[in-house]
Amino acid sequence: MWSFSQWRRRRTLARHPVEPGLWQRVRHQLPILDGLTAEQDALLLENCVLFLQDKHFTTLPGVTLSDEQRLFIAAQAQLPLLNLGDLNWYQGFHELLIYPDDFISPQRHRDASGVEHEWEGEHSGEAWLQGPVILALPGVLSSGDWDAYNLVIHELAHKLDMLNGDANGLPPLHSDMRVSDWARIMQSAYDDLNQHLDRHPHAKTAIDPYAAENPAEFFAVTSEYFFSAPDLLARAYPEVYAQLKAFYRQDPLARLMALQVNEPSYKTRH
Ligand code: ZN
Repeated sequence: MWSFSQWRRRRTLARHPVEPGLWQRVRHQLPILDGLTAEQDALLLENCVLFLQDKHFTTLPGVTLSDEQRLFIAAQAQLPLLNLGDLNWYQGFHELLIYPDDFISPQRHRDASGVEHEWEGEHSGEAWLQGPVILALPGVLSSGDWDAYNLVIHELAHKLDMLNGDANGLPPLHSDMRVSDWARIMQSAYDDLNQHLDRHPHAKTAIDPYAAENPAEFFAVTSEYFFSAPDLLARAYPEVYAQLKAFYRQDPLARLMALQVNEPSYKTRH
């Protein structure tokens, strides 16, 4: 059956071809895409082209983005959506602001006794409810490897979380998932991390302690680990890994393990 959205997709892709060498250079900087099938790789590239047509990059003074860097950001933004179908998961925002460096922004937190605290915090990224995504270039450029850090995926996970209102660690789940399972599993891992930090404030935690800030950060940080350090996440919180696997409909741990078995460079490097 003829479909307007498919026709428009085909037309946009035909009008904005990506030179194969450019995509290969971007792929080379993104080990977290290693192990995707040729079919997944082609779909990801198409989704990147559509993303770049749909979103506007605003650069602050001190930043110039090359086509390669734009595609590098788009590929990380689109990896989490790869198996989520045609729904417009990044609806409701159009702009990505790229800052030259980390930035200071006002923070507010109401503690358990109801006291409002305000302070200035230094950030590499931010996602505003119904507003832009802000990314600091150094954090963007440090993303892409299997090393438990990915600023782009982190901030865009906040956008997925915000699809059903405030960022609270609960994105819109698929019909084959249960909110009660998600809430129980995420809450118990979040509590575990917080209890660990209460007992040993300076001890090394299994995942970035920033995840203990609030449930929204827990979802963003665990999403970041899911795609960039699935082995660490699955070891620390296997049930959280399983929930994210059901949500993103991907299994990066299987992909990483296959690379570690089959790719000579992975046997020593990761
Ligand atoms: Zn965050």
